[in-house]
Amino acid sequence: MSSLRAALPPGVVARQAEPLSRHTPLRTGGPCAWFLVVHRVDALGGTLDLLKERGISWNILGAGTRKVFRDGEAGGAMIRLGTELQRLETDGPAWTVGAGVPCAALAWAAAEAGRTGLQALARIPGTLGAALANDEGDWRAHFAEVAEFRRGQVSWREQEKSLNSKLILGARLDLPHEDRDRVVAATADVLRGATALPTWYERPKRGTAEAELRRVQMAGVRLRGVCIPEAAPEMIVNVGKGPASDLKLLHSSALKRVKQLRGVELSSAVTWTGRS
Ligand SMILES: Cc1cc2nc3c(=O)[nH]c(=O)nc-3n(C[C@H](O)[C@H](O)[C@H](O)COP(=O)(O)OP(=O)(O)OC[C@H]3O[C@@H](n4cnc5c(N)ncnc54)[C@H](O)[C@@H]3O)c2cc1C
Repeated sequence: MSSLRAALPPGVVARQAEPLSRHTPLRTGGPCAWFLVVHRVDALGGTLDLLKERGISWNILGAGTRKVFRDGEAGGAMIRLGTELQRLETDGPAWTVGAGVPCAALAWAAAEAGRTGLQALARIPGTLGAALANDEGDWRAHFAEVAEFRRGQVSWREQEKSLNSKLILGARLDLPHEDRDRVVAATADVLRGATALPTWYERPKRGTAEAELRRVQMAGVRLRGVCIPEAAPEMIVNVGKGPASDLKLLHSSALKRVKQLRGVELSSAVTWTGRS
């Protein structure tokens, strides 16, 4: 199996038995068989063919903000899009952006260039490829075409609401000009008004999860390397090397305590992935 590294095309960096916790924002996730960073577009076909030939399943990892990765072995290959897929090229209103570019970086680059329409992306912490694959929003109106990797080659197509594509490589945008200072201010406003950021809890019928968690004194509670932040009890963060199992334990304790002491049934908004 280790000969996989030798057989990969140039432009791919491979690590065997790589813990995903080194690459996810919550610092959790067990080892995947192979962690592959594909830096060159022309290396993609050869890489995917090789994985298929060896019977290795694969997935794409963007910034890893959408799910919490469990601690067990992840199996298969995790692919991250490298250098050529993190590029941003501009030609007046026509922009070409790689799928690995962070949404917020794209929004701020547009604002600084006096191009409007992408302000809402400033509050999305993940990559453009994942946003195009999964998310809705008015910002999509400015995406003219999307590049996918299909049947061994790059294919451009009109972007649609739901792309349902396993591998998005980038996009072409058409961005109208506006006064730079106005776009910068509008982008900053998006962050200031970001009251509905996804939290670890669904919004309850009445009140807020934050208020309920404060009432039952969960704000600031710590379990080994993970904690419920004092300033934002509706989140859970990893402050040490806490495993996913501790994140889960703290989260379910909070849900239980609110139910027991307040009679309020909060629901979890977190999606878990991988084996325990
Ligand atoms: C604090 C916070 C705020 C958020 N705010 C918003 C928001 O305002 N609006 C919103 O819509 N979402 C929001 N999200 C959800 C999430 O950040 C977005 O869905 C984001 O686009 C995920 O990007 P990622 O790179 O982290 O994806 P990942 O978690 O790495 O991947 C998510 C999924 O997309 C797939 N994927 C990744 N890259 C590609 C690709 N190139 N081609 C095909 N599939 C791919 C992965 O395989 C995986 O299945 C928020 C999340 C958090 C934590």
